[in-house]
Amino acid sequence: MDTLIIGCGAAGAAAAIAAAERGDRVTVLDRNRKPLKKLGVTGNGRGNLMNNSDQRYYGDTGFACQVLEKVTPASVAYFLESCGITLAEEEEGRVYPAANLASVAVDGLLHRMAQLGVEILSCACAEQIVPQEKGFSVTVTVTEYAPDQIKASGKVKKGEVISQSTRVLHADRVIVAAGGAAAPAHGTDGSAYSLLTGLGHTLRPVKPALCALLSDAKVLKGLSGKRLRGTLQLVAADGRTLHTSTGEVLFADDGISGIAAMQLARFWEPGCTLHMDLSRSLTGSGETQITGWLDSRVARVGGMELPPLGELLVGCAHPAVQAALLRAAGLRAEETASPDRLRRLGQTIVDLTLPVTGTRDFDQAQVTAGGILCSEFDPATMESRLIPGLYAAGEMLDVDGDCGGYNLMFAFASGLLAGRHRQGEK
Ligand SMILES: Cc1cc2nc3c(=O)[nH]c(=O)nc-3n(C[C@H](O)[C@H](O)[C@H](O)COP(=O)(O)OP(=O)(O)OC[C@H]3O[C@@H](n4cnc5c(N)ncnc54)[C@H](O)[C@@H]3O)c2cc1C
Repeated sequence: MDTLIIGCGAAGAAAAIAAAERGDRVTVLDRNRKPLKKLGVTGNGRGNLMNNSDQRYYGDTGFACQVLEKVTPASVAYFLESCGITLAEEEEGRVYPAANLASVAVDGLLHRMAQLGVEILSCACAEQIVPQEKGFSVTVTVTEYAPDQIKASGKVKKGEVISQSTRVLHADRVIVAAGGAAAPAHGTDGSAYSLLTGLGHTLRPVKPALCALLSDAKVLKGLSGKRLRGTLQLVAADGRTLHTSTGEVLFADDGISGIAAMQLARFWEPGCTLHMDLSRSLTGSGETQITGWLDSRVARVGGMELPPLGELLVGCAHPAVQAALLRAAGLRAEETASPDRLRRLGQTIVDLTLPVTGTRDFDQAQVTAGGILCSEFDPATMESRLIPGLYAAGEMLDVDGDCGGYNLMFAFASGLLAGRHRQGEK
């Protein structure tokens, strides 16, 4: 075959379509039973496929920008629409399938691959790539599973491994698009990095990104499941601001989730603290001076009297949030709203500070920070600078983006570049 692609995720599917459109005979392998399994669950099942606003990438940001200069967001949209996927743009440039379903994007990509005659080998895990005089040989473990419809009385259970065999495939060029280490339930557990490190490529240290921050702060008690909006700042032990993020905050028993917190995870370091300004959620406006706003609450609730603190936030925060804020400020609900207590409460609303003990692990992360060193690949073609004919694309590489469609967009764009390239061409 001409082109063998390892991994049928967003990057692998885009590479397969682009290579087949230029006339290659293409085979795509995926270790999962179903191709594009992860794409189907992205964006809470809605599939935030790309983003039309400013680029927000980390890791090798320069490389990411070069890729997206070659294949712009408009070209990614054109590609998706050429696969029959109609798109709709929402706030902050986020683009979803108009049908609001990630599964229609899966269907569109699979349909286009079928139209172009791309062969998909599922349950096929690439173990090793060996460069040959011409092209490459790839050793693959093929697993046969018992079908899901198997009778209950059968000897094997549904989904059980029935057999495994080894195949060696040959191809003129190989595109490795096997994802990172995040979300192992979707086939990506970091084991595929060795396909490239085994050929001399460098792996930059990896860590979970876009996942919840962990905290053992007592103030979290009773807040699990409560959502607010806030501006969050992650601050290092020496006082450096590691990163700032604004958006949804979702409390959990063991920490803080929601987009604003998840976007901070890749910046976590031991000893850091999280500073949360939750005033926007309570006051409805980001500009209100919190002390003035609290004074107006006192006047509204108490008239000429100083009301108990416990009555001040009724109607603007869930009772559990009210209780947590008072607790964090060292106040009790029955205490009167004296100027000093109001100052402490106001300070807590704009700067609720928690220790952050770590982040959730890869199994609960959406993306991997770190990965294969980008400078060993040409951002115009995704071809290895070490081994001609070898390519990498997508989350495998040391590029990760914020929530908002950036990760899928980089995967599609880099996959398209790799798929389109003809060896020897610039
Ligand atoms: C729950 C969740 C929600 C997300 N939501 C969004 C979102 O809305 N927008 C966004 O931009 N990003 C989102 N992401 C991130 C995004 O899905 C990934 O960054 C993106 O899918 C990466 O694409 P990829 O093709 O590089 O890798 P993947 O999509 O991870 O695909 C890699 C494929 O390679 C296969 N594979 C791995 N090793 C081998 C091997 N040795 N042999 C054969 N096959 C192999 C895997 O089975 C997998 O199918 C989300 C992630 C998760 C987990």
